[in-house]
Amino acid sequence: MILIFLGPPGAGKGTQAAHIVERYNIPQLSTGDMLRAAVAAQTPVGKKAKEVMDAGNLVSDDIVAAIVEERIEAEDCAGGFLLDGFPRTDVQAEMLDAMLQKKERAVDVVIELKVDETALLDRLKKRIAETRARGDEPRKDDNEETFKYRLQVYKDLTAPLIPFYAAQDKLKEVDGMGSVAAVSAQIDAILDDFGPKN
Ligand code: AMP
Repeated sequence: MILIFLGPPGAGKGTQAAHIVERYNIPQLSTGDMLRAAVAAQTPVGKKAKEVMDAGNLVSDDIVAAIVEERIEAEDCAGGFLLDGFPRTDVQAEMLDAMLQKKERAVDVVIELKVDETALLDRLKKRIAETRARGDEPRKDDNEETFKYRLQVYKDLTAPLIPFYAAQDKLKEVDGMGSVAAVSAQIDAILDDFGPKN
């Protein structure tokens, strides 16, 4: 099963991804996590990406697609994978289709987590407060101003993927406003049609 999570920053993609990883035994491929690891390791990609990420902008399509293409070669992706944070532009979506086609694979399902904007901002403030309470520093792009900018980037560049996948009949909408368990239950109901679960 090849699955894509779509949704604005803070919609709960990461939280729900953890549930899917466990239930369906497929890896989560978060381009945000992969890029943050590259930044921390100060690789050439990380050095290029750091400022772009801190400002809430998107890293170039070529860089991100190359990271994904390499990652999906790994053995643990043979049975499928969950893409979290990729594709984020129409160009990336086409690059993904092309790389999968070469392997005679295709995206099975795209889950859109729908949440309202006020809730996103409330969740952000809570996350920042919790991080600080643990004695950690929040992510550089996790402040109100950059977050609002990332939300706008989502609307401008990523939301157009919703009609793109709807036209392919792959889009499933999930109400992301409920409890974590309630959202997971909706996702399970969709995914149980697709592949073996644990
Ligand atoms: P995330 O953790 O998914 O919110 O990603 C954090 C940051 O990493 C984003 O704001 C972008 O700067 C960068 N990033 C992650 N995924 C992508 C992608 N698919 N395309 C471009 N930039 C990305």
